[in-house]
Amino acid sequence: MPSDCFSLKMRASLGMRHISGAEKIIEPDAIPAHLQALLERAMHHANGEPDFVNFKLERIPADSILHLNALPVRSLTADTPEAGLELMSGLLDSLGINRAREIVELLSKTHGMRGAILLDADTLEHLEPDPERGVRATMMDSAESGSGTHCSPCKNHYAEAMVLAAKVANAPGIVAELCISDDPDYVTGYIASKTLGYVRISPLKLPGSPFGGRIFLYRGPHENISGTIAFLEKQPVLVHGIPPHPQSSNPSDTPDSNERIRTAIRNLHDRNLHRTEEVFVSPASSSVTLHGHDTLMFASNDYLDLANDPRVKDAAVEAVRKYGAGTGGSRLTTGTQTIHKELEHALAEFKCTEDAITFATGFAANSGVIPALCSRSDVIFSDELNHASIIDGCRLSGARIVVYRHNDMRDLERKIAACTPCTGLVVSDAVFSMDGDVVNLPEFLGLARRHHLFSMIDEAHATGVVGPGGHGVLSLFPGLDLRPDILMGTLSKALGSEGGFVCASREMTDYLRNKARSYIFSTAPAPASAGAALAAIRIVMNEPERVTRLQHNVAFFLEQLHGLGIHARTESAIVPIVVGNSARALAAAKRLREAGIFVSPIRYPSVPENAARLRLTVMASHKESELIFCAEALAEAVSVDFCRLT
Ligand SMILES: *Cc1c(COP(=O)(O)O)cnc(C)c1O
Repeated sequence: MPSDCFSLKMRASLGMRHISGAEKIIEPDAIPAHLQALLERAMHHANGEPDFVNFKLERIPADSILHLNALPVRSLTADTPEAGLELMSGLLDSLGINRAREIVELLSKTHGMRGAILLDADTLEHLEPDPERGVRATMMDSAESGSGTHCSPCKNHYAEAMVLAAKVANAPGIVAELCISDDPDYVTGYIASKTLGYVRISPLKLPGSPFGGRIFLYRGPHENISGTIAFLEKQPVLVHGIPPHPQSSNPSDTPDSNERIRTAIRNLHDRNLHRTEEVFVSPASSSVTLHGHDTLMFASNDYLDLANDPRVKDAAVEAVRKYGAGTGGSRLTTGTQTIHKELEHALAEFKCTEDAITFATGFAANSGVIPALCSRSDVIFSDELNHASIIDGCRLSGARIVVYRHNDMRDLERKIAACTPCTGLVVSDAVFSMDGDVVNLPEFLGLARRHHLFSMIDEAHATGVVGPGGHGVLSLFPGLDLRPDILMGTLSKALGSEGGFVCASREMTDYLRNKARSYIFSTAPAPASAGAALAAIRIVMNEPERVTRLQHNVAFFLEQLHGLGIHARTESAIVPIVVGNSARALAAAKRLREAGIFVSPIRYPSVPENAARLRLTVMASHKESELIFCAEALAEAVSVDFCRLT
């Protein structure tokens, strides 16, 4: 008679946050080796270092274990996530499930639940007793892992999914299981049932999406549900014959690393997402030379046309003569020159803060400041349309990232409330770079204050553009007495130079000088950049009429567009014209180019895949005749798709 086995469960967490978990069903001899391996996994997990690791060891009588065979595996590939979900829906149909589309829709919108949804396959009624927790399949393992000879600290996601799918497919009343991982980098999901087997489908979502979920579909009398749940949660199961991972079954089939690069590039071409750079032979200005043709520029972030201003250029040259071409060190070693301090004083004055600190770029500012403020035990609340540099800063910090719906303060409030009490940060673009709208600042700052969270605003497209004199979003709300802790911006857009900055209290800048790694471990901004930026700020402060001109031009341009039936909107100098898919955006940009106008077609991943757009930017130096010309050419270029614009 075989000896009893043990169920070994591990769960690691940091504060309230789950870090990793695993379970094994093993023979007594194998316990020490598996304990060791799971401990290793818990302590060195990419999700963070736990402060609590729970092990549970439970005896299982040998005769209570149910032995099952793994489901046969197939893999299907689709061109897009929509097509992948369509395949899944077709397979559900084939099982005689009528409301397949609704079920698949529900799956792709599930978010943040640890367990699975238990759904009535016909009525779509939720059957899980606790909707927060869901239903979890546990007490299961691969029969091959119990010997103790090949336990590895690495999680074998594929084998674990096969074990789970085999158990679920054999549960009484379960007709199918659907799963999408919430891992942003893992886009393959599956549908499994006793008749279909285990069908992997890729992709089911876009890379980078944190959405994911699991649904168990149940068909049968509702009084039997508790039996199904008891089977899923308590019946010990060992699964035999798990096939090797489809991609590693034959080593000679695995693509070499260069092949991966080639495939990725081919894929970009196929999806109209491949990009190349345009080479200009003239300064950045409202009219440029492109391939020998005079072209009107409607894509530059140099909103005030300062990059080519003679005074700004002279200041750059002057700074080079006085301070040299480079600084030879980071700010805290040899890299701080008088020009850097003058620039920081001017920025603090312009933004009405105690102090300012500059970085090599805006990207460096965001990717350095956020990890300086937050770490693994914090929560960061981030608008879903925030700039890539904010997203990367959040990821670098290791904090838990909670993404809220674009500029939706009710959603932000709900999500903060769901995490309270917590420490951390709320962060938002001031002007959203692809949509041109402005953050709801009073409510944003109010929520941060009420919940004792740091607040951070990115003014990359607001500085020199919005508010009287271009002082930024705070000047749009003159009665507001709340201030963000971090007012971040860039010198590279309306200020026509290069560099990033943070305006804040002296205490905060002191802290950042000591903690922001992109400040400490990167060479100080070149004197030319600092000198040019300083001259540009002085021009903006002394000549507010430039900003007024820009704001007038935006209003004038919108009027022209509206007159032509194009209902564009903006609260800044960014005018998005959403055209739909990438191919359409490319075609419209090409037509405009032929008319002598340069605009950027913006595609995934800068914007969602079905919201490709032309992103037009207005400059202070555009003449009214040029704005009229552009509006008319635009109406012409998108006329094919006119009905879709409104
Ligand atoms: C452009 C941009 C940045 C990065 O600034 P750079 O100086 O170009 O590196 C950061 N945040 C937002 C919102 C931006 O649009």
